[in-house]
Amino acid sequence: MHYDTILIRYGETFLKKGRRSFFISVLKHNLQTVLGPGFILRELYGFLCVERRDGQAFEFDADIRAILDRTFGVFSYSPAIALPLELSAIENAFANLNDAFFAGVNSFRVSTTRSFKGFPLNSMQMNRRLGAIVQATRGLRVDLEHPDLDLGLLIHNKKAFLFPGTYKGPGGLPVGASGRAVLLLSGGIDSPVAGLLVMKRGVRVLPVTFQCEASGLAGLEKVRDLAGRLSDFQGATVLFYMNADAWKQAFIRRLPARYRLVILRRFMLRAAERVARVFEPALIVTGDSIGQVASQTIENLITTQSAVNAMVVRPLSGFDKLQTMDAARHYGTYAISIRNVADCCEDFTPKHPETRATPAAAAKLEDRLNVEDLLARVLGTLRVQTLPLDNAVSDTLLTIYYRLRLLFGHRDWWPGDTQLEIVVGAVLTQNTAWTNVERAIANMKSQGLLDVQALLDAPQEALEAAIRPAGYFRIKRERLRSVIKALVDKGGPDFKGFESLDTNDFREFLLGIKGVGPETADSILLYAFNRPVFVVDTYTRRILGRMGILSGKETYDEIQALVVGHLPKDIALYNDFHAQLVNLAKDFCKTRPVCNTCPLHDICPKK
Ligand code: ATP
Ligand code: MG
Repeated sequence: MHYDTILIRYGETFLKKGRRSFFISVLKHNLQTVLGPGFILRELYGFLCVERRDGQAFEFDADIRAILDRTFGVFSYSPAIALPLELSAIENAFANLNDAFFAGVNSFRVSTTRSFKGFPLNSMQMNRRLGAIVQATRGLRVDLEHPDLDLGLLIHNKKAFLFPGTYKGPGGLPVGASGRAVLLLSGGIDSPVAGLLVMKRGVRVLPVTFQCEASGLAGLEKVRDLAGRLSDFQGATVLFYMNADAWKQAFIRRLPARYRLVILRRFMLRAAERVARVFEPALIVTGDSIGQVASQTIENLITTQSAVNAMVVRPLSGFDKLQTMDAARHYGTYAISIRNVADCCEDFTPKHPETRATPAAAAKLEDRLNVEDLLARVLGTLRVQTLPLDNAVSDTLLTIYYRLRLLFGHRDWWPGDTQLEIVVGAVLTQNTAWTNVERAIANMKSQGLLDVQALLDAPQEALEAAIRPAGYFRIKRERLRSVIKALVDKGGPDFKGFESLDTNDFREFLLGIKGVGPETADSILLYAFNRPVFVVDTYTRRILGRMGILSGKETYDEIQALVVGHLPKDIALYNDFHAQLVNLAKDFCKTRPVCNTCPLHDICPKK
């Protein structure tokens, strides 16, 4: 059966008056992402309308239904046929309905909705009139309460839409509309469902899992498959996994058996909190259910929660196991969860775990441990995998980034308060260390030279004296002048003229200025003008070369294309990633590398 439109109702989101347009825009964006560029979406009187970009009719097949069935925020949907807004055309369509609609149908009704009040007949009159036509042509009974076939008609101000049926969508709010949360994802039945429940409330989840020797590769594969299923509902999903053996070994040596599980959960929450901090706001979701197992008594849940400041949400608190299992089957995680693979805690759960833990007792036992060091050791094993994609280069790049991000914190680059200061820094930093640039910039500031006009007007000697600490002061004086002059000529003294310039054209323009190579141009684009370009430098080449991602023969542009092609397009990520690499190269990945303490030691083939 061919249709030319799908009418999508967003139900609940419609009710949230203050945030309605925001919800709709998120839903629209999510649908566009999953349906792909072949389709377009329009808003139409309480509906989102899906059409093919080329205007052609299309098969309303199982693939499209599957996509809509897992897009939260879709309340219900109807495949539809657009009709001209003329009574005769509508009547004609009802007289010549496709036989396929009537298979196994004994009763029907017509339900008209009119958003265009100028149409000469009202809804009731239309229902009667069209109903009589169908009765006459098909000989079917009218049943207003429980019809086998509900023939919908939407009268809009430009077109009418005939839709012979409505399908229930998954409901809820569109993913992303409520922010993000870290999900503690085990291989069990509960935690994937907990994740899906908050996803249904519009939360994008970042699954974090702890693996160990006992759970092995099969354990990881199982969690990857679960995260892959989550990605069916929310799109690209980054799974964070860590090895928790260091915790288990320390706990076995130092803690009484009954308390080990509660303290393990406290450590999991602590590590999750660190990951959550990267993605403010920090909300952590777990699959705990009150009283389900000995470790989930109210006392134990409180004791676990008290290890962190983050808000821990447990959507299954009020669920019994059967409800959770039903939900797991409904969302398609059950079959994965019941695969028989050892759990990370299996070899660890004592026969009689503590059921009445207290925060004070747990904290006292933890005095026997070096909590910070144990946390760092497990966080230091962090790796990521992006799902549903399976791309080793992407995963290595993101693993490098998140490891460094967790260890060094956000680098807050570029060090510089104004666009001008960043541009000046990008030119001065060529062939010298940043500390020298800092001194040069401090001189310029104190002499009032960090100003477009002052910089262009200053006597040569004064400018050279100021930037002397950055070396090559004659060449750099000339370069500074030519760069600033070119920027002012094209963009005006406040650089506002660049706002409307396309990034590629902007880059070409910068590369055309004498003394500006790709690294300087890209630093200016990314850090001064917030453009989505990745900066490649000697450090990038060195680190990615040693990590086995580059062969060493690539050109600047090739390296840039490779990195950008394997990362999500995200200016904030490009910004901090480059800064983290610089930091790593300075402290560890030096010309003569310091490998044993390097945070990438275990994943670097060159160590
Ligand atoms: P599940 O079916 O989710 O494993 P469960 O009933 O087996 O739940 P527990 O094993 O006590 O419960 O775990 C409680 C919660 O702690 C899990 O739902 C999950 O959120 C978190 N959790 C447990 N083990 C891990 C792990 N290895 N990695 C990440 N989170 C975990
Ligand atoms: Mg479990």
